[in-house]
Amino acid sequence: MSAIITLDNVYRVYRMGHEKIMAVNGISLEINEGEICCLKGPSGSGKSTLLHLMAGLDKPSKGSIHIGKTRIDTLNENQLAVFRQKYIGFIFQSYYLIPTLTALENVAIPLTFSGMPKSKRIKRAKELLEAVGLKDRMKHKPTEMSGGQQQRVSIARAFANNPKVIFADEPTGNLDTATTFEMMNLMTNLAKHFNQTLVIVTHDDEISGYASRIFMIRDGKIEKILNGRDQQDEKMDA
Ligand code: ADP
Ligand code: MG
Repeated sequence: MSAIITLDNVYRVYRMGHEKIMAVNGISLEINEGEICCLKGPSGSGKSTLLHLMAGLDKPSKGSIHIGKTRIDTLNENQLAVFRQKYIGFIFQSYYLIPTLTALENVAIPLTFSGMPKSKRIKRAKELLEAVGLKDRMKHKPTEMSGGQQQRVSIARAFANNPKVIFADEPTGNLDTATTFEMMNLMTNLAKHFNQTLVIVTHDDEISGYASRIFMIRDGKIEKILNGRDQQDEKMDA
């Protein structure tokens, strides 16, 4: 197996006046191609910061980050933007759909950067919306959809470019349990089907059951790494 994400001694320090916050405090890890991983840990432990660093949405204070063979922490903003468009998908807890656009337009947006002709973009966006069960909501705007439906649109958008890695930051944090399972099945099935790598921040035990490995994060460090099987065992022992 080959590593698709490699972090070597990564730090992210925030300076607040005289105070230094070590949001990510010396993390090294490797995630393999096609793996489904979770980051778990208390609020404020550095999960979102870590995810943003891996996705090239933020830069480390120290250390190196590779996606495949590309070292991303030394790319400039333009290079990073191009890299993200090609290789990275991101799903946020609060969806971040564009309110004035329909579901179809929201999914087609990332494809406009790929140079795909418009008719193809529309076709691809339709296929994705169908795959996430929104065939009959293509013309709806975000405010005309439920939370679960909006998150489906944002999942379709994240997968639109067929990225190598999809990052999700508490993607089901605003959803009920039944919808949480639907979203997880949807994301993991899509990722498995296209051999994509999925890294999910979550508090949910249900979600971490889908993961091959769970990185437990505390105070900006990896406290321990569980595999999905251990997680099941822990639940049965409890
Ligand atoms: P989590 O996602 O695990 O809840 P975060 O990564 O959001 O944690 O935050 C980790 C730590 O870094 C927290 O102490 C938080 O207050 C701090 N932090 C996060 N973002 C910033 C920022 N932009 N400026 C200053 N401190 C921040
Ligand atoms: Mg967070």
